[in-house]
Amino acid sequence: MKAFALLLGLALVGGAACQAQAEGLEVQPLIGGTPMRCHDFRGAVVRTLQTTELGDVGRASIVARVPVIQLDTDRLAKLPPKLQIFFFMHECAHHVLGHVIRPTLQSERDADCWSANYGRWAGLFSRKDVEGFAPFFAASNGSKFGHLPGAERSAYILNCFDKPESEPVAYSLSR
Ligand SMILES: [Zn+2]
Repeated sequence: MKAFALLLGLALVGGAACQAQAEGLEVQPLIGGTPMRCHDFRGAVVRTLQTTELGDVGRASIVARVPVIQLDTDRLAKLPPKLQIFFFMHECAHHVLGHVIRPTLQSERDADCWSANYGRWAGLFSRKDVEGFAPFFAASNGSKFGHLPGAERSAYILNCFDKPESEPVAYSLSR
């Protein structure tokens, strides 16, 4: 809610881009020690707000026309760096694939797959890194909104890593 209010405020004062950075909305956040970037399906810069008490590791949304990734730094800190990157790319994928506008029951799986494909394509994580994600998903029961239960999710992500449908467009690092 804090971020929401903040962004609404920015929309009113205008000059959102400069203001946003000043308020902690990062264009190139450091995730697991790696500077990351994300652009949405329109090519717009996605800004990242590192926060706490989010209720989830990350969340993708559009607030006052600004595409935003919120990350819970407390939750991220408990994860290996490569998995932190995976989650950032998962949230980025929701922007890349337009889920923030039109979510579907397939969105969570598609975002996982995109993140795995992109991570492989960009050399952000190895197969061994992805195998190492499994214990961190194991306790999850999944959700009604399309998150697979932990073991299934791990297998799904690894399968995406192994069998990319196509090369993901270079939204993040090449711009
Ligand atoms: Zn998601």
